[in-house]
Amino acid sequence: MKAVLDHVGIAVRNLDEALVFFRDALGLEVDTPEDVPSQHVKTQFVPTGPASLELLEATSPESAIAKFIERRGEGLHHITLRVDDIGAALRQLRDRRVRLIDEQPRPGAEGSIIAFIHPSSAQGVLVELKQVVQAQLKLRPTDMRPKTIQLGDIEITLLSDGLFGLDGGAMFGVIPRTFWAPKAPPDEKNRIRMAMRPVLVRGARTMLVDAGAGDKMTAKQADIYRFERDFNLHHSLAAAGVSPAAIDIVLASHLHFDHAGGFTERAADGTLRPRFPRAQYIIRRGEFEDAMQPNERTKGSYFLENYKPLADSGVLQLVDDDSTIMPGVRVRRTGGHTMHHQMIVIESGGKTAVFVADLLPTAAHLPEVWIMGYDLFPLDTLNFKRAFLREAIEREYLILFEHDPDIAAGYIRERDGKRYVEPVA
Ligand SMILES: [Zn+2]
Ligand SMILES: [Zn+2]
Repeated sequence: MKAVLDHVGIAVRNLDEALVFFRDALGLEVDTPEDVPSQHVKTQFVPTGPASLELLEATSPESAIAKFIERRGEGLHHITLRVDDIGAALRQLRDRRVRLIDEQPRPGAEGSIIAFIHPSSAQGVLVELKQVVQAQLKLRPTDMRPKTIQLGDIEITLLSDGLFGLDGGAMFGVIPRTFWAPKAPPDEKNRIRMAMRPVLVRGARTMLVDAGAGDKMTAKQADIYRFERDFNLHHSLAAAGVSPAAIDIVLASHLHFDHAGGFTERAADGTLRPRFPRAQYIIRRGEFEDAMQPNERTKGSYFLENYKPLADSGVLQLVDDDSTIMPGVRVRRTGGHTMHHQMIVIESGGKTAVFVADLLPTAAHLPEVWIMGYDLFPLDTLNFKRAFLREAIEREYLILFEHDPDIAAGYIRERDGKRYVEPVA
């Protein structure tokens, strides 16, 4: 087993007092402190070359650090060794009858997995093993079951067309990987995990907003985008008790393949046809025209097979402006991502929910300048987003995130000048 010293943990009564020595007297740089509620500790890292020091202060009397200090006073608490394969390391130790505190690895900070070895097997030293997990996409299962939210007289059901992966760099534009990687851990090909969450709106009519990537992808595309669609829109609609024929309206935020791929399907004879047989498809005229004539920059996302058949079969309705689609549901152009990208505003009973599509694809895109590299007009995105976020906070809009793997819906809150998303269970 190869093991590298990652850090040395030091139990302290008070972080500020400890900094008098480590920061002020030694003159070391220190990181910002971090709360770890699950362990009842506040930690502060002091980078010291390849390995660092970790200062640990208890935040509750039940914390292991509090008990440690009570018994032995402040001092060295544990050392952490980084290994490549923590499962193999634990097996090797078990074979040699080493006493383990954790028989199985458990989640640690920043996407790592950890396990502790008992000091009685390690010359009195508490040893932590740590594995940094890169390919994280499959670690946490995404909850795909449809969830229904009642908004006044309108029922909103969050559906799923499965998961896919897009290049993390492209998803966060000019933001360096160091900043986004902890929030959206990339896999070995730098792809981050994204969901596709079309939304069903039931009010005066039954309406589907976007339809995921659909079933027409080639094996090569499925590999590039790492599609995981074992549970897809077919299953999701069935679980919500809705048949394709029950959909009256299909509304598009825009026509990129991860939103419009499910608009059409290939029949047994190979011809393309609308996937929802009774539905009228509503698309913004400018978006439709741009998508019918993709350029070198946009042709990677616009595939005619997803929307041209709608025009051919006469089920397409183009809208020119921000307008009401059905009672309580209207569209509002955001621009930015594409010139005619629009969000869907749902209002009933004095409440508002907004399906923001690619304006704010995941909760991690909350900071104003965290804008996708895919956006054709990023400064338009910035301007619209700045004003919209303010509005969403003030008016308490429920935001529906189309691509977030973990947070399907939530409120944007602001406290002490800091913004965050409060997820809705
Ligand atoms: Zn898009
Ligand atoms: Zn998208």
